[in-house]
Amino acid sequence: MTSARGKTEARVALYPGSFDPVTNGHLDIIERARSLADQLIVAVLVNDEKEPLFTARRRIAMLERLFAGCPDVEVRRFRGLLVDFARETGARMIVRGLRAVSDFEYEFQMALMNRRLAPEIETVFLMASEEYSYVSSRVVKEVARLGGDISGLVPELARKELERAIRRQSRR
Ligand code: ADP
Repeated sequence: MTSARGKTEARVALYPGSFDPVTNGHLDIIERARSLADQLIVAVLVNDEKEPLFTARRRIAMLERLFAGCPDVEVRRFRGLLVDFARETGARMIVRGLRAVSDFEYEFQMALMNRRLAPEIETVFLMASEEYSYVSSRVVKEVARLGGDISGLVPELARKELERAIRRQSRR
């Protein structure tokens, strides 16, 4: 992008989330975000209080494997205020995905709060393909725990890791 001063600046976008685990809905949003930015940082929230199924390290490893060989996609961990991390990385755009109206209220609140904290950063909402409009990490974990088929909803490596994690849990 050429700025008003005539300088060419790389457009860095940040896609934050828990990715516990990554789903095909996330991948759909990532592909759309890649087409809007020069560099996309997938920012994995280290949120121990949410008691994720996968450690941040595992969540990051899955994403890194999926985007190995894509120099425009970088996977990083973060904790603390999102806008602080965005500033640290030089991102001017925060990407969030919208599924249904139910996502809207929380996302709207967060976007306005982030704008107040960092007016120079814009939040952009993208919609995944409708076939993923009901897919969330939470629902996928629930279905997998109950023995349902989740292929086609998450990438194959996440499906295998999920099955392994659930088997490990049930042995406890
Ligand atoms: P968080 O805990 O921040 O909601 P998630 O990993 O659940 O983290 O989601 C990260 C982002 O991806 C959120 O903006 C969420 O709305 C979006 N997202 C997740 N699944 C989908 C989907 N199937 N379609 C569109 N957006 C999605």
